[in-house]
Amino acid sequence: MVDYIGVEALQGILASMGSAAFIEDLTTEIAADYRRWDEFDKTARHAHYSPGGVIELMPISDGRRYSFKYVNGHPGNTASGRLTVTAFGVLADVDTGYPLLLSELTLTTALRTAAMSALAARHMARPGSKVMALIGNGAQSEFQAIAFHRMLGIRELRLFDIDPKATAKLRHNLQAIGLGGLQLRACGSTAEAVRGADIVTTVTADKRNALIITPEMVQPGMHLNAFGGDCPGKTELHPDILRRPDVRVVVEFEPQARVEGEIQQLPADFAVTEFAQVVSGAMPGRAHEAEVTVFDSVGFALEDFSALRFLHRLQRQRAGGRRLDLLPELIDPKNLFGLLLPAAPAGARPEARVAELLDP
Ligand code: NAD
Repeated sequence: MVDYIGVEALQGILASMGSAAFIEDLTTEIAADYRRWDEFDKTARHAHYSPGGVIELMPISDGRRYSFKYVNGHPGNTASGRLTVTAFGVLADVDTGYPLLLSELTLTTALRTAAMSALAARHMARPGSKVMALIGNGAQSEFQAIAFHRMLGIRELRLFDIDPKATAKLRHNLQAIGLGGLQLRACGSTAEAVRGADIVTTVTADKRNALIITPEMVQPGMHLNAFGGDCPGKTELHPDILRRPDVRVVVEFEPQARVEGEIQQLPADFAVTEFAQVVSGAMPGRAHEAEVTVFDSVGFALEDFSALRFLHRLQRQRAGGRRLDLLPELIDPKNLFGLLLPAAPAGARPEARVAELLDP
């Protein structure tokens, strides 16, 4: 049997522990895994591009556990009542190759992306950052707000989306959960939202080289968390921002970021730092107050690996978790065909029936 976490089970987990606590605990897991970066067998994800979006497979292993995520990104989906991003994934045991957990990863992706975003900002934003602009107020946005309120102590959130209904929805949801001391300000443009912000998080969805943040918006010392550009031809930052002499660009996994990240707009020898070096202390996330820091995130398989392992532990601690008969359970593993023989007497396994037939 394989453990199973569906949307309803995850809702239950989040209701009992709280989304903010879940994100914070998951951040610890992700940070610990990034600290043992060299133990992972890493590969850029396998992507199938189409005019409307992308379907990706994201595998990774640490030699003990293996995981993959299936994820799509279709910015046009919301127009037909569908999510832009949906996902599910598997955690497996490397020694036997047996899957241990099949899980929803749509809500989980939003949670882990928020965790990663806040984790990067902890290492890269100026200490004492209090004001964040959140550009793109769709499915990911509440999770980002919760993470930054909880983990960085953000006290003012400036909101902007080209769809005012998305901003109204975000505002409504954040007011409904009541994040203590957090001021929300809906802005009329990205420039207005970004002015005076310590941190700018972009989670927009548009399949083009969008210019969400342009050079004149960027002030010394700002931290830019660019999360929405994550495919070839899908970016959010004007490339001149990345070319500034005072900019530091950090990515998750360089081979993948070169193809999918903001840095796809720059030559292949443009210098970047991998986040693993920052979290381990080998490289600084920020050298000084005035430096402009950019976390160019596309989402990396390690973050989903951490999330799946974390979910599996939580599921095992809970009573009544669901299990799926995804795998045949046989007394004789060479007798797979036994499953197809005429029904065995109640309670007997197919192998019992075979034994009966062979030795009446
Ligand atoms: P969504 O479609 O629910 O929301 C995106 C929002 O961006 C929409 O409300 C849309 O109106 C808004 N938008 C589009 N163009 C804009 C612009 N020019 N200015 C301001 N707002 C604009 O999508 P989502 O699930 O919230 O995902 C957002 C983005 O984040 C997607 O591009 C997705 O691929 C990406 N993403 C990245 C990661 C990662 O790990 N880096 C993880 C998950 C999602």
